[in-house]
Amino acid sequence: MSKEVDYDLVVVGGGPAGSSSAWAAAKKGIKVALIEKENSIAETVRTSGVTWIQNIKEFGIPEDCYNKIKNFSFCSPNNEVTISDSEPRAAVLDVRKTYRWLASRAEDNGVDVFVKTNINQVIKNEQGDIIGVKGSNPEGEIVFHSKVVIDASGFQSTVSKAMGVVTQWKRFGAGAEWEVKAEKVDQETWWLMVGQQYSPAGYAWIFPMGENIVRIGVGVGKPESNVDPTQRLEELIKKKLGPIKKLGKITPIEFHYGLIPNDGLSRKTVFNNLILVGDVAGQANPLVLEGIRYAIKFGKVAGNVAADAIKNKKTDEVSLQPYEDNWRKEIEAKINSASKVQDRWIGLSDDEWDKELDIIKELKSEEFLDFIKADFGLSNMLKLAMNHPKLAVRQLFNLVRNKKK
Ligand SMILES: Cc1cc2nc3c(=O)[nH]c(=O)nc-3n(C[C@H](O)[C@H](O)[C@H](O)COP(=O)(O)OP(=O)(O)OC[C@H]3O[C@@H](n4cnc5c(N)ncnc54)[C@H](O)[C@@H]3O)c2cc1C
Repeated sequence: MSKEVDYDLVVVGGGPAGSSSAWAAAKKGIKVALIEKENSIAETVRTSGVTWIQNIKEFGIPEDCYNKIKNFSFCSPNNEVTISDSEPRAAVLDVRKTYRWLASRAEDNGVDVFVKTNINQVIKNEQGDIIGVKGSNPEGEIVFHSKVVIDASGFQSTVSKAMGVVTQWKRFGAGAEWEVKAEKVDQETWWLMVGQQYSPAGYAWIFPMGENIVRIGVGVGKPESNVDPTQRLEELIKKKLGPIKKLGKITPIEFHYGLIPNDGLSRKTVFNNLILVGDVAGQANPLVLEGIRYAIKFGKVAGNVAADAIKNKKTDEVSLQPYEDNWRKEIEAKINSASKVQDRWIGLSDDEWDKELDIIKELKSEEFLDFIKADFGLSNMLKLAMNHPKLAVRQLFNLVRNKKK
């Protein structure tokens, strides 16, 4: 016999989107379950954890969860550029510590956290709307009845697939990464490495974690390239290509592997009693495929909207729509613009990358950061597209100036 439990809200997935949703909803006084299939929150790390200090501060993430970055270095086969800032504006998260902090904040606000619980079925009412989920844990089968379900299960999108409202992502990034101890590390400088030898459709990276720890990784766009990122990473480390050489002796600590959707904002994210958030919703900046800040930010919005709907006893699609309106208003135009730059970058040859770095060299640090974050405010893009002293930069910004795709 399976165990049956009742909640107002069930959140599937204990990543940043799920923990943030659960926390926000519980703060509004409803009964929330957060479900994670692994043995503990962030048992497996699938991300490199770069994000922005401004967002970190906004979310209240503690100082001991990240390493600050103020120099942004790029290299292509025959070119190199470093943009330095007067103060750190980027950071590399200790992913495990941060994700656990997010989940414990939810727990402290009354969320019941279920780990080792793998959700594999949905429960529907006669109209075909979701009214719970079913899964298994070490004690056996468990059924969660709920008024609203938030699917925060990441790339796999377990709940939404079981409901038949989404199909597998077709375009995505696959990334492999080694967290290593290195002999010589500049803690304040990250490296992005572009060109065929690093990744034929994507980039490689070195992200310092503080002290002597760095993450070295390779991301490859699928289906554009069939290169295996794990194999490419092993080759880069073995050959000590480009800035990897500067690290001196390298001792592996932990391997990470993950997939991230890159199909744009193609999914509808609200249905009767159901919200999709984070990677399930495709909410990532396509330029560098970063989604953590959006997962946390829109997780909070999802939790708030779900809790209000539950309290008002109206949890149909229309009542949950404010969530989709909120995130689309904030990021849809930016993500569409960033996709255009991504399309340009994916097609560049090595020679063209060498030239692209010459353009990047012309950017001031705040221009560069707005650009890489896909923070394309219409007025500043217009200004840069019209007035930047360099023609090539004006052309690059012209690409993102038209907001609609
Ligand atoms: C290689 C790589 C590097 C990246 N680097 C960055 C970066 O530097 N910066 C950045 O901002 N973003 C980065 N990203 C993207 C970022 O990791 C995601 O956008 C972010 O993790 C999305 O959060 P999420 O909560 O939606 O999903 P996830 O973090 O994937 O969390 C989903 C959770 O759901 C759980 N789960 C799944 N299925 C079930 C189930 N059936 N039952 C119960 N639990 C389930 C999983 O175990 C997991 O814990 C990277 C991604 C990859 C792949």
